[in-house]
Amino acid sequence: MKTRHALFTRAFMMAALLIAGIAGATLSIPVSASAPMLKTTAPGWYRMMLGRFEVTALSDGTQTMPVQKLLIGRSPDQTRQALAAAFQPRPYQMSFNAFLVNTGHKLILIDTGAGQLLGKHLGELVERLEASGYRPDQVDEIFMTHMHPDHIGGLAAHGERVFPNAMVRVSQREADYWLSQANMDKAAPDQKAFFRDAQAAVAPYIHAGHFKPFSGNVELSPGISAVALPGHTPGHAGYMVESGDHKMLVWGDVIHVPAVQFADPAVSIDFDSNPAQARATRERVLADAARNGWLIAGAHLPFPGLGHVVNDGSGYRWLPVSYTEIR
Ligand SMILES: [Zn+2]
Repeated sequence: MKTRHALFTRAFMMAALLIAGIAGATLSIPVSASAPMLKTTAPGWYRMMLGRFEVTALSDGTQTMPVQKLLIGRSPDQTRQALAAAFQPRPYQMSFNAFLVNTGHKLILIDTGAGQLLGKHLGELVERLEASGYRPDQVDEIFMTHMHPDHIGGLAAHGERVFPNAMVRVSQREADYWLSQANMDKAAPDQKAFFRDAQAAVAPYIHAGHFKPFSGNVELSPGISAVALPGHTPGHAGYMVESGDHKMLVWGDVIHVPAVQFADPAVSIDFDSNPAQARATRERVLADAARNGWLIAGAHLPFPGLGHVVNDGSGYRWLPVSYTEIR
């Protein structure tokens, strides 16, 4: 009896499917969406809590980069293979991230994106900041990791301060290097623009008395201290952000190509002003990050650029944060 019932049920279902198929064919159910594709990206910000601090990652945009030509210590073919093995798009798309920390007492922006300096794919930071719920005039302080155009360009627009109430902090060594007329004069012709752009970006802040370099690994705001990470630029600095037991190191440009440099931190990039020093800094900070379990925030790690570093064989592996919504 059971068997007969089962057979009946199966036959009934098959018949029903057949009828549905015929009906579908007869009524010509549409096979393509009537709404056109939008081909736009989500607003480009990501928010999480770090103890009692609120951290917002802001994407300034992504930009194609010929990294196979830029890495030092890797042939272009080796880099291409590593990128393909990591399923990276060709050409390589590099993220450009900045980080906003609301300590509850101050709103602090770490780096400012490229502004108008590096083309139409970057310079989205203010739009993303506003989409995330803040306004530029609410930023109290800006901590610069360094003064390259993709980090400092967002400070000013048309010679005016984009963040009218913010005090800009940068390491004294970095400021001395980029604001020196003598250094600019002796720089190679293709390097002079770096000096010009850095000087133009900070000029309105200097004029307003809103530019204040710091020396050493000092605490700049309760819970946020500078950490010297020299090599990428002479005064390149990270910022250790601490709330309770939670620690996050915003490390700026320690790594540019995760698919290559986590596994082999000895590989530097052409943008490093002192590749040997950059390598030593990278090796030291990666070992510290893995040993201490710090959250890392990276300017050129895939957006949101937040995650952890773990040991993996002779090198390291990057573990991005797990997407979590704040409730
Ligand atoms: Zn950079």
